[in-house]
Amino acid sequence: MTEVEGKSCIAIVGGGLKRTVNKKKKLLLQVGALAACFLAKRGHQIVIYEYRSDIRMEKSRGQSINLALSFRGREALKAIGLENILVKCHGTCMRGRMLHDKDGNLKEVLYDSVKGNCIYSVNRQYLNVVLLDAAEKYPQVQLNFNRKLVEADLEKGKMKFLNTHTGATEDAKVDLIIGADGAHSTVRKIMARRPLFNCAQTYIEHGYVELSVPCKEYNEFAMSGNNLHVWPRGEFMMTSLPNENHTFTGNLFAPFRVFEKLKTREALLSFYTEHFSDLLRLIGEEKLVEQFFEKEPQTLISIKCKPYHVGKTAVIVGDAAHAMVPFYAQGMNTGFEDILVLDELMERYDSNFAKILPKFSELRCDNGHAICDLAMYNYIEMRDLVTKKSFLFRKFVDKLLFTLVPNFWIPLYFAVQFTRMSFRECIAHKEWQDKVLRMSIFYLAFLSFAVFSCSFFLK
Ligand code: FAD
Repeated sequence: MTEVEGKSCIAIVGGGLKRTVNKKKKLLLQVGALAACFLAKRGHQIVIYEYRSDIRMEKSRGQSINLALSFRGREALKAIGLENILVKCHGTCMRGRMLHDKDGNLKEVLYDSVKGNCIYSVNRQYLNVVLLDAAEKYPQVQLNFNRKLVEADLEKGKMKFLNTHTGATEDAKVDLIIGADGAHSTVRKIMARRPLFNCAQTYIEHGYVELSVPCKEYNEFAMSGNNLHVWPRGEFMMTSLPNENHTFTGNLFAPFRVFEKLKTREALLSFYTEHFSDLLRLIGEEKLVEQFFEKEPQTLISIKCKPYHVGKTAVIVGDAAHAMVPFYAQGMNTGFEDILVLDELMERYDSNFAKILPKFSELRCDNGHAICDLAMYNYIEMRDLVTKKSFLFRKFVDKLLFTLVPNFWIPLYFAVQFTRMSFRECIAHKEWQDKVLRMSIFYLAFLSFAVFSCSFFLK
């Protein structure tokens, strides 16, 4: 790659978000590809090294798999001119949760009944293809598929790759290594050998299985197409997101000991008949059995580490830095925001990585930890709290105050999904609101008691 004066040569390890589609096929998606677009726009020389093959070359891209894109992710896409095509033309608006009880009764809880914001369900494969195409349009971006990073000297910018086609090893040297290589990041593992690097990984005791809900006759949605559907059942839950082709992609999230009991066709059908009978009717018994036993339940991991960089020569982004459980639908959104923050710092420090990388760690590490915590909390909210009266009352109070004083009282969910407020601030804001509500309840109770006592003694 030819060097350009004043510009850096940057390697991005990992071409984007991957996900299991079926036993054999993996999908690549986008934090690495998005980073390439931003950096190439600033004139840097970019080489992407991606372990897997190019998804665009594959004949069948498998079933529709989607993810929820919200404000943080959209802002990043907007900055490189891709928001319109991905969100406005091909995204499906989800205006709130549709809760399904055991009897099939429905209750809609809007995400934002005040300003009408919604989150968008976007096809992962499509998102991946659009980002790779966009990256490739820059002449200074080179895409290398089937290259697995096996070793690196992060201070010197040196890397060793395995060419998974030929079996040969290849060496490369760059000014900056960006690790966008996912939850099991090799770049992060190499960072972890260094002193003062802290890292904690947690597998939750719950896993998930992906299921597809077909569309009705005449290509209609089988359920409301503008909602994220949730079947909260306390210890476990089903969710499903609409696709542009009017199917839904669902997930059963449950403790592994529940999956252990679902090893036979009979056990599975009786479980679905008891807990998700409306969904069973929509998927159909045969399809459910076929899809459910197609693959083993997948694990869910959460990673918190610090710092995210090494000097001026290496940095990790996306799941490599902060993999999280998927219950706030913020994994990819946060990864996209990482790149937006990196770009904002490039602007502020004129692409001086010695200043940018430490600042990036300072701004992002604590926020990464905060969203990991929020994502864990939201699992309990989605599978259990949403059915509780106290939760619905709190939602009502939030809505009322948000309508009356929108700049003062910002509900947690709104702050996470529809603003770029730092995740630390989102938590601090919620803690402050809880305190105000607790105090108000205390003073109201005290006042009522005082009024009651006075009227009693005055009689
Ligand atoms: P990855 O997707 O893991 O991509 C890493 C890439 O690096 C892959 O292409 C991989 O092949 C490559 N790679 C790995 N190792 C190497 C190596 N040694 N050398 C070279 N290349 C390598 N997020 C949302 O925002 N909204 C949602 O609705 C949402 N839903 C989700 C639902 C589920 C069930 C799950 C599990 C996650 C969900 N997420 C969601 C999270 C989201 O999928 C991840 O945050 C996102 O995929 C992270 O992207 P990434 O590019 O950082 O990492």
